[in-house]
Amino acid sequence: CGIVGYAGNVRTACGKPLEVCLQGLQRLEYRGYDSAGVALTAPGMERVAVRKKAGRLANLVQDIERDPMPDATVGIGHTRWATNGVPNDTNAHPHTSRDGKVAIIHNGIIENASQLRLDLQTEGYRFVSETDTEVAAKLLGKISDKIIEETGKPDLFKAIRRLARMLEGAFTILATDVRQPDIVVGARHDSPLVVGLGDGENFLGSDVAAFVAYTKRAMEIDQDQAVMVSADKVVVSDFMGNIVEHPKTYTVDWD
Ligand code: GLU
Repeated sequence: CGIVGYAGNVRTACGKPLEVCLQGLQRLEYRGYDSAGVALTAPGMERVAVRKKAGRLANLVQDIERDPMPDATVGIGHTRWATNGVPNDTNAHPHTSRDGKVAIIHNGIIENASQLRLDLQTEGYRFVSETDTEVAAKLLGKISDKIIEETGKPDLFKAIRRLARMLEGAFTILATDVRQPDIVVGARHDSPLVVGLGDGENFLGSDVAAFVAYTKRAMEIDQDQAVMVSADKVVVSDFMGNIVEHPKTYTVDWD
């Protein structure tokens, strides 16, 4: 339902990814939701740090206050409006890959999730939630491992494009990978995604409300495009990897 993402660097980030995610989710509350969650990544992490809770955003915030999350360079946050699977802690986003190195959040409905789930189950994958999103998370993990096998290095941007080509239905997806703790990647089809352009930091949101407290400069991601943001770079491409040379930017004129 609501999506926010943040990419900073080791020097500037620390608690900022979490702050931006929680603040962004609060701004997106008007859309309605039944659960909320965040994922944080920093250099040296073995697994993405994930925290998620059914109910009000305040439940998540309280949980994090009780048991603080680690400093990070990048983060993603989600408020869920359940379509596949009841609203509970387990079905809340983010969802992770088998090894926990990759986490994703998702808006929309993946129509071919049941078939993809069966295929993965045949290969021995186990699922903890009832969601279509977890299928995409396990699949993205598998694709990422395959890319490392093929090229010797991780490439989450390439991985999310491959994932997007395999999914049917509507989606905005953001992903983070501990092997690339300086980037957040996204992809969209029939569901919106906007970039917020910062100074030494960049933002992602399902709408500008997610980051308008931090920057008014925005960039629209078009239908069937993918994006990679780091602290000082934004790269947009189609699902085949063709780079979009001059993506349209604009200034948000409200606050
Ligand atoms: N289909 C996903 C789910 O049920 C995402 C729902 C949403 O857009 O929040 O978890």
